[in-house]
Amino acid sequence: VKEIGLPERAVITTCAYCGVGCTFRAEMRGEQLVRMVPWKDGKANQGHSCVKGRFAWGYANHQDRVTRPMIRESIEQPWREVSWDEALAYTAGKLNAIKAQYGARALGAISSSRCTNEEVWLVQKLVRAGFGSNNIDTCARVCHSPTGYGLSKTFGTSAGTQDFDSVMDADVVLVIGANPTDGHPVFASRLKRRLRQGAKLIVIDPRRIDLVHSPHIEAAHHLALQPGTNVAVLTAMAHVIVSEGLADEAFIRERCEFDEFADWAAFVSQERHSPEALELVTRVPAADLRAAARLFATGGNGAIYYGLGVTEHSQGSSTVMAIANLAMATGNIGRRGVGVNPLRGQNNVQGACDMGSFPHELPGYRHIARDDVRASFEADWHVALDPDPGLRIPNMLDAALDGSFRAIYIQGEDILQSDPNTHHVAAGLAAMDLVIVHDLFLNETANYAHVFLPGSTFLEKTGTFTNAERRVQMVRMVMEPANGYEDWQVTQELAKAMGLGWDYADSGEIMDEIARLTPTFAGISHARLDREGSLQWPVNEAAPYGSPIMHVDGFVRGKGRFIITDYVPTDERTGPRYPLLLTTGRILSQYNVGAQTRRTANTVWHEEDLLEMHPSDAEHRGIKHGDWARLASRTGETTLRVTVTDRVAPGVVYTTFHHPTTQANVVTTEHSDWATSCPEYKVTAVQVSPSNGP
Ligand code: SF4
Repeated sequence: VKEIGLPERAVITTCAYCGVGCTFRAEMRGEQLVRMVPWKDGKANQGHSCVKGRFAWGYANHQDRVTRPMIRESIEQPWREVSWDEALAYTAGKLNAIKAQYGARALGAISSSRCTNEEVWLVQKLVRAGFGSNNIDTCARVCHSPTGYGLSKTFGTSAGTQDFDSVMDADVVLVIGANPTDGHPVFASRLKRRLRQGAKLIVIDPRRIDLVHSPHIEAAHHLALQPGTNVAVLTAMAHVIVSEGLADEAFIRERCEFDEFADWAAFVSQERHSPEALELVTRVPAADLRAAARLFATGGNGAIYYGLGVTEHSQGSSTVMAIANLAMATGNIGRRGVGVNPLRGQNNVQGACDMGSFPHELPGYRHIARDDVRASFEADWHVALDPDPGLRIPNMLDAALDGSFRAIYIQGEDILQSDPNTHHVAAGLAAMDLVIVHDLFLNETANYAHVFLPGSTFLEKTGTFTNAERRVQMVRMVMEPANGYEDWQVTQELAKAMGLGWDYADSGEIMDEIARLTPTFAGISHARLDREGSLQWPVNEAAPYGSPIMHVDGFVRGKGRFIITDYVPTDERTGPRYPLLLTTGRILSQYNVGAQTRRTANTVWHEEDLLEMHPSDAEHRGIKHGDWARLASRTGETTLRVTVTDRVAPGVVYTTFHHPTTQANVVTTEHSDWATSCPEYKVTAVQVSPSNGP
């Protein structure tokens, strides 16, 4: 305010960082943003915000922004700035030529969980109706794709069951594989408020996250499990609940497939699944496991919140289903204070999944093989759709190496930094004929691109984001796009250059199409969101005012399904060369690979990613607090500064992945979730040795 002067007008919009979805008053003077003030009427944040949403928006005007399109024939050549017309004609010509020579399935795209629902919708439509394949995937592939799989199989749809406010009626809160204090700070505040009122807390995490001991909060149980053993821990808890007669049989008989429950109960009751039998695997004392299970089953309303520490494992989908089993077995579904709640990392990862960004699903989580669903899209879009599922991101990269996949359009994602095994990603991109990067900055992936299309920030566009509680909220243009186009307009212009007759006048028309073709969005429009502030899907004839809580009278699929989830150890094993297990996470002031937060003046206090190491492991290697160390895995190596701390157990090390200089994903492996290919970021066998620095 001191530099720019007092604001003259304000626009209400939504934060573009995490899945909490805080709304803000963007206060403007002329065309300059003066400050972001948390909006008191925001349903998700109720007037609160964290440091990122409030202060980390300076990247919008950062000198690194690229605002003119660029092309080059090969990645060895320098970039050449061109007009939008030339860039779009060049790109469309290349795409059409590749399609003509190699077929529709040689083309694909990655949509962004940072972009609006309307923008994601158009990218998947471009792939399906323009490219002619289902080779569409999204960054949820590397974070919450197991949520999609696991919750669809058990409950019938891929979404958190509760609104955030529901936690205020929880009596026992189970937080597994999530660190809300850093990852979802505004929700964490509400959760802490409830814990200070007396709700009990169980934390399942290899690392002692802040929540375990914070002011006036003491977790009843912290189960510091060995990384990679989530399913074993949840199975042991289920064993206690079933064998001690603590399951909610009335709920199960009324709401779930009872025969499947009986099979599951017989499975978890086996002696090999007792806490005592699994203690060696999980490294959690059996008495703690028993006590935590009893507390969750008997302590009143039990609510489960989870994050990427659940999904980014070779058994990510199994863990999601094991969580759903636990909630159903204890009757903790369908009312306030209970539920299964994935804490979504990115602002619109829920929306990107809702909008059909998966290669096997049309919008609304409906399989591409369903003739009736495909027919509704074909009638609206006047085009025949490919009935076969397309390629996931890792499969696109593999197919590029064998020559069958030739061109990719990547909107708002830096896969070279964010995806596992950086060397493999680079090789796949380098093998393609055409890599189109549509982004704010020349990111690491752009090193392999032939076309760079400048993107717009959340301040420069109008559309909607959907937060982790399925709340659809307006994002409103605060300033004109620096590049002249909103992202949905770029995709539309590319489609037109390819010969498609698209003609959306504004993003509201795209939302009208979404509502027309997606039953869970049937009652949503920009006009209604402007009037009512926000709506939680499903919004349709059955739920005209939206659905803060799902599965109230019945599950979306009818009856809830118990699915047996047998613990299978990860293939990533420690040994003499790589004796430690690395796991990863985030810090409050940074966001994912840091492309935005590192380019704001307000978050400079965190300059590097640090490696947390237990004192005994550090001493054994002659490493002291603050020393540099070499972190090596079977895949690669990097150099990090060490923090010696007993937050992590002996044998476990931990780091964040916010800085390109560190490139933590150089060391992560290609192991992935058996069902969804979500990378196993949370378990990598490593060695740590002293180093003189990078
Ligand atoms: Fe809210 Fe998340 Fe944005 Fe922080 S980063 S202001 S918690 S939406």
